[in-house]
Amino acid sequence: MTLFGVEHVLPRDQETDALAGTELCERAITAVDALSAAVGEDRQALYRRILKLLNLSRLSDADDHDLREVLRELRICEQEGRRAYRARLRRVTRVPRPGGIGRLPRPRSVKAASAPGTCALCGDGYTTGELIGRPPFTDELPYVPIGWLCWHCLVQRRQKPRRRDLLLRVFHALFAGMEGVGLNGHECGVLLDWLTEEPTLADSKPWAADPLENTLMRLRTSTADATPAAWFSTPTAHTIIAVLQEAPSSPHTTPQDGETLTALVQHLAEWETNAAGVRRAQFGSGWRYRQRVLQLTAHPTVMSERGGPFHLFQCRVNPSGQLVETE
Ligand SMILES: [Zn+2]
Repeated sequence: MTLFGVEHVLPRDQETDALAGTELCERAITAVDALSAAVGEDRQALYRRILKLLNLSRLSDADDHDLREVLRELRICEQEGRRAYRARLRRVTRVPRPGGIGRLPRPRSVKAASAPGTCALCGDGYTTGELIGRPPFTDELPYVPIGWLCWHCLVQRRQKPRRRDLLLRVFHALFAGMEGVGLNGHECGVLLDWLTEEPTLADSKPWAADPLENTLMRLRTSTADATPAAWFSTPTAHTIIAVLQEAPSSPHTTPQDGETLTALVQHLAEWETNAAGVRRAQFGSGWRYRQRVLQLTAHPTVMSERGGPFHLFQCRVNPSGQLVETE
């Protein structure tokens, strides 16, 4: 017997994950009402608590990612009862973030994870109680909202980039159809190390076809100068990926880095060849086409499962290219 005595009000995880849109929102509203009755807190006050948790002004602004997490949280509140729910429905407001070129925008919402899950960007698992968060909304096309991020992706990925963070940046920039890929000085340093740790890479076929010496020079300067945003053209990004694919295994390349690289190479090829036979007349040749190809891939990867394209943020710079510190 649950506190509510109505098991169906708060569905199990799988059910919650399967719900979407209006149905999910209605389920959340029912669950709030039920918890309000169970713990004796005024319905409106409980709504305010949940909106504060999500840092939103209306529940209708919450997306499916928000609502699923709220539903899971409400279920735990139901199990833990009257004393625990206030502490549970509380957003973390103070978040230590790196400054300078490694800074990402202040997250819209940060909370302790209600259940184990996977990061919506890198796919790493997080456990119950670990801090997760949502970045601020970006409503410009072609970007789609990204779900709950692990702590690394939420605040650290531009300050202490991993090799696969670079690959994800390349992937989402090409996916969105950006003119090129923008990297900060830290990311340039990681890429420089990767491209130069094995000297024979300079003899590889893709390097011979599109020499990277000038790119290395720019990477070196951008690393040394802590450049907020160094831009690399789309063809150069393709060459870099093709060269990295030739790199022998290295203790600095983790299995996850390798897996991400393989997935990236696969998806770039699928976009190139239209492996799934997506109708160009319907989807064109831009991000909608790439999104469709990704959805229809015969070999799903951590990247195709997450979708996109996601806005991964650039440093703000003034007209002379200097960093404008964000709040
Ligand atoms: Zn992550």
